[in-house]
Order: sequence, then C-alpha cells, then structure tokens
Amino acid sequence: MNSMRSIRDVLKQDGAELKTVLTLSADEARIEVQCLLQHVLHVQRAYLSAHPEQMLSEIQKGTYDALLQRRLRGEPVAHLLGEREFFGLSFKVTPDTLIPRPETELMVELGSQRISSPPAPLPLAGEGSRQRVLDLGTGTGAIAISIAHARPDVEVVAVDASEAALLVARENAQRLGVRNVNFVHSDWFSALDAQRFDLIVSNPPYIAADDVHLAQGDVRFEPLSALASGADGLDDIRRIIHSAPAHLNENGWLLLEHGYDQAESVRVLLLENGFCEIFSEKDLAGIERVSGGKHAPKPINTGI
Ligand code: GLN
Repeated sequence: MNSMRSIRDVLKQDGAELKTVLTLSADEARIEVQCLLQHVLHVQRAYLSAHPEQMLSEIQKGTYDALLQRRLRGEPVAHLLGEREFFGLSFKVTPDTLIPRPETELMVELGSQRISSPPAPLPLAGEGSRQRVLDLGTGTGAIAISIAHARPDVEVVAVDASEAALLVARENAQRLGVRNVNFVHSDWFSALDAQRFDLIVSNPPYIAADDVHLAQGDVRFEPLSALASGADGLDDIRRIIHSAPAHLNENGWLLLEHGYDQAESVRVLLLENGFCEIFSEKDLAGIERVSGGKHAPKPINTGI
C-alpha cells in the first residue's frame, strides 16, 4: 500500500479527524494541522497553500504521525510544538507552565499603559529613577517578559512558587534577549521582603476546584497549581489583593486576570482593600477579563 500523503491530503483528512475526535470547529482543526505541518516541514503557513501537491518524506511523515497521535489523545498543541506565541514573541512552554493564552495579552497592554512614558533620554539615570513592575506567578514569563521587552527602561521582577516554571521563564528571557527581568522563587510576596513596585500584574490560578472545565481540553495537561484556587476560585486573588498595598508605591496599580464571572467579586475585593479608580476591562471575546485598581493611600484624617 502506498502510504505517501500530500500536504493537501493531510490537511483535509486529519483536519476532519481532529475536528471529530476533539470536538473542535473546522477552523480550529485546520489551524492545528497547519501548525503541526509547519513544525515538521519547517515552513511558514503560506508555504502549505502554495505547495498542496508536495509529498511528505518518510521521515517527515513519521514525525508528523507521532505528533498527530499525541494530539488525538488530547495533548495541547503548545506542548507538542514546545512553544506558543504571545504578544508577538515565541515562548518555550512545558507541562510545568501554564500555556500563555491570547486573552492574557490584554494584561500586557493595560499594564504597559499604566507605566508612565520613559523619561527623555537620560543615559545616566540612576537605578532609583527606574519604574518597577512585579509579575506574580509568572509561569513561562509571558507577561513579565513582554512588558520588559516593550519597555527596556523599566525593571521587572517576576516570581513563581514553582522552580520548574522559573527555569522555563529564565530560558525564555535569555532566548528573547530580555535582560531587565529578575526572576525570584517566591510564593506570591513571601520572598519580597518590603520591596515596593509601581505596577503589580498577575494571572493567578482562578478556577474553582470542582469546576468541570478542569477535566476538559488543554487544562488537563497543565499544572493544577496554576489553574485551581479553592472552592470559588478566588483564594489566591484574595491573598494577592490583601497583600498588594504593602508592596505598592503611592499611585501604583494592581492588575489581575480572572474568570469570566469573577469581575464583580474582584472589584469588591479591591474596594474593601482600599484601592481606587477600580475598573474591569473586556477581552476580545467581550468578557470582563482583567480588573484593577490604584493604590492611593488616603491622607490621615486629622479631624480638623
Ligand atoms: N484562562 C485559563 C483557562 O480558563 C485559566 C488561567 C488561570 O487560571 N490563570 O483555561
């Protein structure tokens, strides 16, 4: 039997199989097959449509089939390829890290907007004049590294409670040539002493422990510690909001990603902890996805 297959055959047949087995949309399934083929053939997406007749070599077919079988068993595409693009940069991804999601790019945009513009060229600006950003639970480093890449003038600290995740994050910073991120092993603020920041960002775990989504799709292959957070999913968000004021400079911002139905709870927590200018912002799917507030300590009322 001739087992040779063309790019066109693979796209058509395997797209249909992935769609059925993983209950994906036709577009999602096609994009996934394209990603696997691009990876195996070392080509850009446009190449696939320009060369539909090209046959896969035996070696290419062997590599591709192995990846397809793993995907059919549910492994995330990001794990098969070992990388995921986020904010225009390519991040190494392993099962020790959360896979960067497109909706989290909103955090980078909102965070960057809240760091004031760089001062006019000041080659001798001292350390003290640099704005400081903290990323809590950095995972692959996607948020911290994207902000640091866009703003080489700021100093970013990125923490994670997982040493394994920090190894991946450090490698990402190195591969992307980003030098202004300092990675620290810390359970939220625990290893940060009295350090203060102008902006704190976090995409913490926020899924309720008994949420059925944890047994579906990509999340089955991601670290539970990066996903689930207590009975209502808000345990870590509560801890972060409670501790953040002691680590924010005056007028510093705290921005948190959260679940589709948590925006109001997060706004209430921010209010209860003294934050002002509280807001929520929708992601591209129209879901309130990031909420934040400003730390503006009220002057002490002297009663006069
Ligand atoms: N947004 C992810 C999901 O729903 C969860 C990320 C997180 O818990 N921080 O799959």
